[in-house]
Amino acid sequence: MHEVSIAVAICDEVTRRAASAKANRILNVRIRAGELTAIVNDALAFAWEVVTEGTIAGGSHLKIERIPVRIECARCGVQPPVALDRLECRKCGSPAAEIVRGRELEVIDMEVEHDAADTGRSAVHT
Ligand SMILES: [Zn+2]
Repeated sequence: MHEVSIAVAICDEVTRRAASAKANRILNVRIRAGELTAIVNDALAFAWEVVTEGTIAGGSHLKIERIPVRIECARCGVQPPVALDRLECRKCGSPAAEIVRGRELEVIDMEVEHDAADTGRSAVHT
């Protein structure tokens, strides 16, 4: 289950960002995950719950945006999204010269909370 190591990596990154933004709680995290990462949403959501427990991201909600796979054909250019098991050009059928989308795995943004003395919620964008 590679979702656990992904959850650990995301947790590391968002807690580091929250620390530099002087936030003391993370409420929501949005990530972008390409289909090629083969992440199972439910498994990642569960791993997130386990991994973030006891951290400032504990109890936060992880929203996953899936990015479909796009390929580029050397002859025909970039294609509309293709199925994972058919990484070939839709026009000429040649194998994908390059995969241009679908490998992404990144934090889009997150919502954090500051001290009660502060104004409360704020969003950290990247
Ligand atoms: Zn082609």
